[in-house]
Amino acid sequence: MLYEFGEHQFEIKPLQKKIPDETRWIVFYQGELFAKQPRWEASSSIKDSKNALYVGHLNGHPYYVVELKQNDSHPQSIDMRDVLHQSESAFLMVSRAKQLLQWRKDTKFCGACGKKNTIIDWEYATHCYDCNVRNYPRISPCMIVLVIKGDQLLLAKNKNSKHNFYSTLAGFIEVGESAELAVKREVKEEVGLEVKNITYLNSQSWPFPNQLMLGFVAEYESGEIDIDKHELLDAKWFNTNNLPVMPPAYTIARWLIDQFVKLKEK
Ligand SMILES: [Zn+2]
Repeated sequence: MLYEFGEHQFEIKPLQKKIPDETRWIVFYQGELFAKQPRWEASSSIKDSKNALYVGHLNGHPYYVVELKQNDSHPQSIDMRDVLHQSESAFLMVSRAKQLLQWRKDTKFCGACGKKNTIIDWEYATHCYDCNVRNYPRISPCMIVLVIKGDQLLLAKNKNSKHNFYSTLAGFIEVGESAELAVKREVKEEVGLEVKNITYLNSQSWPFPNQLMLGFVAEYESGEIDIDKHELLDAKWFNTNNLPVMPPAYTIARWLIDQFVKLKEK
């Protein structure tokens, strides 16, 4: 199967220490992305750039992220998921910016001894010189899987989701576990089914808060649907010509579903 995942037009040049004049800004305030809609980057210059972090280049422009202490000039907060609809490269920039900012905040102090960390300026790292521990931006691997059975696909409604849609199954990979084992375990735990022929297809960075989603397809092997009521409201088999409300475009969940639908329509 498959394919391409959007248009990756951004690049990360070696860490940019000096902020160039032509810099464009990604601005956060109290954890929210701020800009004048429909833009996702700030249009005015930033005075408080002391703690700015280089994010990458997009279409030739350097982008830096900063968290403002006061919100003077950027009156609107934007749902980061809305940026996802604008373009995948824009979302990648904002996603990366959010995670870098959060990492920098989370590693101000050493987690082992509690002393102040030093910011390393030649790579994305902070360092504790007392216990010689270096901290890099952290990502959490998750698996996301489309379970298929002949012409049908299994989709589930999550209990804690604000959205009223059916999606693929997903979960964090546990310590000591391979991604494939996590697929088997999660499918068994969430819907009570055994799966086989687990195949990796694609991945997506998902900054809520710092997941790397590893996308799989797996074939139904045995069992009856028996949902974990702590996690799910419902799960069922759907035919490709009778699909429910699903996650928005550009999410890896939707991408996995769309690939299967396209394959079946051929
Ligand atoms: Zn320490």
